[in-house]
Amino acid sequence: RDLEDAILEVENMEKRFGGIVAVDGASFAVERGSITGLIGPNGAGKSTTFNCITGVHQPDGGRVAFDGTEITGDRPHRVANRGLVRTFQIARGLPEMTVLENMMLAPKGQVGESLWRSVVPYFRSEVLEQERELRERAWETLELFEIDHLAEEYAKNLSGGQRKLLELARALQTEPEMLMLDEPMAGVNPTLQEKLLGHIHDLCDRGYTFLIVEHDMDVIMNNCERVIVMHQGAVLDSGTPAEITANEQVIEAYLGG
Ligand code: ADP
Ligand code: MG
Repeated sequence: RDLEDAILEVENMEKRFGGIVAVDGASFAVERGSITGLIGPNGAGKSTTFNCITGVHQPDGGRVAFDGTEITGDRPHRVANRGLVRTFQIARGLPEMTVLENMMLAPKGQVGESLWRSVVPYFRSEVLEQERELRERAWETLELFEIDHLAEEYAKNLSGGQRKLLELARALQTEPEMLMLDEPMAGVNPTLQEKLLGHIHDLCDRGYTFLIVEHDMDVIMNNCERVIVMHQGAVLDSGTPAEITANEQVIEAYLGG
């Protein structure tokens, strides 16, 4: 089942924590411009895989290629600069900051690295220009997601769903090609879920690629073109929603826990 145009390729990924094998030789690919689901029972290694791809963890083995370039073990800001970002839960992030401040902080690798330059007069205008662009883009995205009226609100005061919108909005600040979302629907009411999914489909139509870890099987089945199933750190199956639900091993993995 080779893909026509893979944007992300993961080969034999391994990650251990002490004696625990969290990812055990996982291999899969993601088609450019698709919404792809990554599913599997609790503890299957989905989040660890996300973390190894985006440089949050160093993998113990395997290779990751994005857009034809090897990015194995690259630091998070380098991966983001290449156009691959994952959302981070605001809850764990900076709830004491406002929505707009969260948006301005997003591409830390890009702006943060060059901030030291602001002490050097020559670079000052460059930094100010970057910040102006960032602010403009922040307002555009907040308006698109209809949360611009919350720009001055503290992130901790947002509802669960508004926070998820902010997480997605913040990830878009780096102008990525591909977004990886870890349980984007968790704690989001059905109305806002529909809205969030609408934005994901709109962004997909504009050429973005999505890889989504999600527990809600209806969300996966109704919105993903392809689904990758992980079990015990490895990939058990991948294919269309119809294909993977017809696989008895997949059903067993879920029922067997
Ligand atoms: P999933 O996201 O599919 O639920 P995880 O990737 O979070 O699975 O976890 C896979 C396995 O790795 C689990 O057994 C989990 O307990 C373990 N694990 C994940 N992160 C760590 C960590 N930082 N330290 C130790 N064990 C971890
Ligand atoms: Mg997880």
